[in-house]
Amino acid sequence: MAKKRGIWVFGDYRNYFQNRITLQLLSRARELAAKIDAEVCAVVFGHWTDEWVDDALSHNPTFCGVVGEYIAHGADKVYLTDHPRLAAYSMETYAVLMERLAKREKPEMILIGATAFGREFAPRVAKRLGTGLTADCIGLDINPEGLLVQMAPSFGGNLIAEILTPERRPQIATVRPGTFQEIPHDYVRTGKVVKVPLPKDLTADRVRLVRSERLPQREQKLEDAKVVVCGGRGLGSKKKFAKLSELAELLGGEVGATRPVVYADWIDHDALVGQAGKQIRPQILFSFGISGAIQHTAACNGAKFVIAVNKNPNAAMMKQADVAVVADASQVCTTLIQELKRRIR
Ligand SMILES: Cc1cc2nc3c(=O)[nH]c(=O)nc-3n(C[C@H](O)[C@H](O)[C@H](O)COP(=O)(O)OP(=O)(O)OC[C@H]3O[C@@H](n4cnc5c(N)ncnc54)[C@H](O)[C@@H]3O)c2cc1C
Repeated sequence: MAKKRGIWVFGDYRNYFQNRITLQLLSRARELAAKIDAEVCAVVFGHWTDEWVDDALSHNPTFCGVVGEYIAHGADKVYLTDHPRLAAYSMETYAVLMERLAKREKPEMILIGATAFGREFAPRVAKRLGTGLTADCIGLDINPEGLLVQMAPSFGGNLIAEILTPERRPQIATVRPGTFQEIPHDYVRTGKVVKVPLPKDLTADRVRLVRSERLPQREQKLEDAKVVVCGGRGLGSKKKFAKLSELAELLGGEVGATRPVVYADWIDHDALVGQAGKQIRPQILFSFGISGAIQHTAACNGAKFVIAVNKNPNAAMMKQADVAVVADASQVCTTLIQELKRRIR
């Protein structure tokens, strides 16, 4: 029987409980696989990959930890290289491992999260395999010829290009976190684990990890937040912008920002929402002092309910909002905070 084509998902399991990108990709990979009768494979390089075992995962004791979780979320097979040398993520080593495995197994597609690591890792893998790469996709589908349709913003975000890789294999894409929704876990699902030994001839990394430090962790990821409080230049100053954090905290949400605000250093780049930043899909989006440029709004289309505050009733963001408040953004934010503090006990 002919071997099934593989749709591979790079298993980025760092900061696992908050970082859901791999699970989101597995979910979409399942839908794509159904269209071309392929199998979904997760590829995991690391060490202590079963470190994450806890009671919630012990339903499937054979495949626990990261492997069990990926199978429960849609992988039919997991390629696993677990070795002390892989304890810290290494661009060079991981690219070599992925190249060798892909040359051996010949996957049809490789999907990688467009995280800071994925954005550096994917082009190196593509170059080594002599194939194309579509970066920062916001959609994936299969066309009638069975090719991966890779949807990515282009021309400054004014167009969504549908990119194909008709000749080279594998078809490689990085996908923005938050683009797809993970499917609920199913710990009864079973899958196959293929243990891949670390090659003996790996050369030493040119880059050495001297020290790593975890940044203070957000409560949740912006792209997964149910409530996002987003601020733009219209807030007027860093001090006024900082009030958004207080509002977000009261609402159990996260703070997002536009590019001018990030460039002005009112908040770090992590909070950027838009073509160059995160894709969000909250239940409620607050938009304070934001004009509504396409490069920003393209990443907010998944928001269920939008409340915009702007001095200009004709701002594009106001036109898209479910509730449009014509007022000073900072004042509305302050009033909301006071009102919530009064009501929440
Ligand atoms: C290639 C490219 C990529 C880009 N990527 C991104 C991206 O990822 N994310 C992103 O956000 N942008 C991105 N941009 C920039 C984008 O085009 C816009 O310039 C940006 O989104 C505008 O941010 P803003 O709404 O905060 O500022 P502005 O456009 O300056 O809007 C400020 C708004 O605040 C209102 N306002 C002013 N004073 C007040 C007040 N006191 N109270 C209430 N409202 C007030 C104004 O009426 C106005 O509508 C990109 C641009 C390019 C070319």
